[in-house]
Amino acid sequence: MNPMLMEYWLLRQRIILKFSQEESMIEKLIKGYDRFRNGYFQRNQARLEALALEQAPEVAMVSCCDSRVDPGILFDVEPGEIFSIRNVANLVPPFEKNGDYHGTSAALEFAVTCLQVKQIVVLGHANCGGIRALMENDDAIRSDGFIDSWMQIATPAKKEVLARSDLDTAEQQKDACEKTAVSYSLRNLMTHPWIRSRVEKGSLDLVGCYYDLRSGELIEVDEINASTPKGSVNKGL
Ligand SMILES: [Zn+2]
Repeated sequence: MNPMLMEYWLLRQRIILKFSQEESMIEKLIKGYDRFRNGYFQRNQARLEALALEQAPEVAMVSCCDSRVDPGILFDVEPGEIFSIRNVANLVPPFEKNGDYHGTSAALEFAVTCLQVKQIVVLGHANCGGIRALMENDDAIRSDGFIDSWMQIATPAKKEVLARSDLDTAEQQKDACEKTAVSYSLRNLMTHPWIRSRVEKGSLDLVGCYYDLRSGELIEVDEINASTPKGSVNKGL
């Protein structure tokens, strides 16, 4: 076959495959929504109608957007129970007053000042792609893109981990960085004035934890990182 024709044929096959996969996934989502609408929604209609008027979650959770780490499933909660904030590598940026778009900080401000949540949980996890990229200086992440600058929030955690002499392998360093980054996010939470004032008054607790998706274990980060500020971490989870 003519090489150009062959190239065209291969490209066409790839496009057909791509669309057939996308269609099947969308069909799966539509069928799933039908099951939700006719099942869960019907069984819980009164509660969901009340929730439609007002939400009053007691917990705000910062977790990773990783598709394997779904707070609703992990903590077996109902709609309305967790104010869920998800971003790359479950990071909390320090308080900053500039013109940038601070999505995570805005969501935290809303949870604390409007919803009056009683706890903020930062949930780290194993095999985090964001932390792996930070530790390995992943070439796939463009220096002029958004991920590289976002992950700089975790640079202090990376430096702390690389300075430790008890971690022998790159894998151990990455695991440690996933946990240490949570403790730095807890510290960064305390730089937000509306969070600090409530923690100091005792009306808000900050909790760090780590989900090991390989074993299913949930670990409190404060038990691993002695450097986490003790005063701001509640042992209740
Ligand atoms: Zn992650």
